[in-house]
Amino acid sequence: MGILKQGAAAAAIGLVAISISTTAWAEFPDKPITLVVPFSAGGPSDKIARDLAEALRKPLAQTVIVDNTAGAGGTIGAARVARASPDGYTLLVHHIGISTAPALYKKLPYKTLEDFEYLGLINEAPSTLIGKPGLAASNFAELRKWISANDGKVNLANAGVGSASHLCGLVLQATLQSKMVFVPYKGTAPAMTDLMGGQVDLMCEQATNAVPQIEAKKVKVFGVTSKQRMALPALAQVNTLAEAGLAGFEMSVWHGVYAPKGTPPAVLARLNAAIRTALKDPELIQREEALGVRIVTDARLDPAEHKKYVEGEMNRWARIIKDSGETAD
Ligand code: ASP
Repeated sequence: MGILKQGAAAAAIGLVAISISTTAWAEFPDKPITLVVPFSAGGPSDKIARDLAEALRKPLAQTVIVDNTAGAGGTIGAARVARASPDGYTLLVHHIGISTAPALYKKLPYKTLEDFEYLGLINEAPSTLIGKPGLAASNFAELRKWISANDGKVNLANAGVGSASHLCGLVLQATLQSKMVFVPYKGTAPAMTDLMGGQVDLMCEQATNAVPQIEAKKVKVFGVTSKQRMALPALAQVNTLAEAGLAGFEMSVWHGVYAPKGTPPAVLARLNAAIRTALKDPELIQREEALGVRIVTDARLDPAEHKKYVEGEMNRWARIIKDSGETAD
């Protein structure tokens, strides 16, 4: 075959390949999509992912299921998605922990900025500092005294190294200059059960999961981590931790959606568009607002901005974590 003929044949094969792949992805999604949550069922990340799954069903015209792959502060679930087939059918819903794990873990089973496609930051929620029902303090000033009187003995539950509850605990410990015993769980859902049962003393928990327990008086609340007091009826009278004397204490827990690296651009675009539509769903907005969660409507819904934001958070937390001296294997 002459060079020209060979070239024409190769071009024709290329065209066939392109049209096959475009046609294949035009059908996306033609089977259920799995959202991997790297924490236990019943916790704040699980709750957010289940609400998102529900709201995604319509724009994707598919079933969206949630699968909890919990453990090691979210790194096991994140690694599962990093290694999944890059076809858009296995996605990760992860929080702030994706940006803190690189500074905390000596060896991480994935590369945060290289092994994922970023699909948009979806929400932000403040945390609350809550305590077991029988705790001998009824406001933050009393709690502070109780913590320093029990230096080295106070138990603080968390969802594993790098989880939001752990990060909040690190900042709390550093600000109070008191040593506390961190008790890790696979998520704050099982931790909450132990807190309500009095097996652990304290926990920083996202409003998402804390509000129902505060309303039911199953836990005591000592402060919120937002800059301003929260408008929610259950929290309107609760001081911010900054107001209570921890100057500058502010923490918001954001969640984002990720796909394995190499997922086709057409699939990513379809997923990003569906996420944007889902976040406008009035039912979803109402459900999240009732739990103190703010839906993201700004530029961070854009994949490139989402990635940039995570990079910024990685740098910010790397300094805090370095100062804390905390590491994990
Ligand atoms: N997001 C975790 C969970 O759903 C809690 C945390 O990070 O503290 O259990």
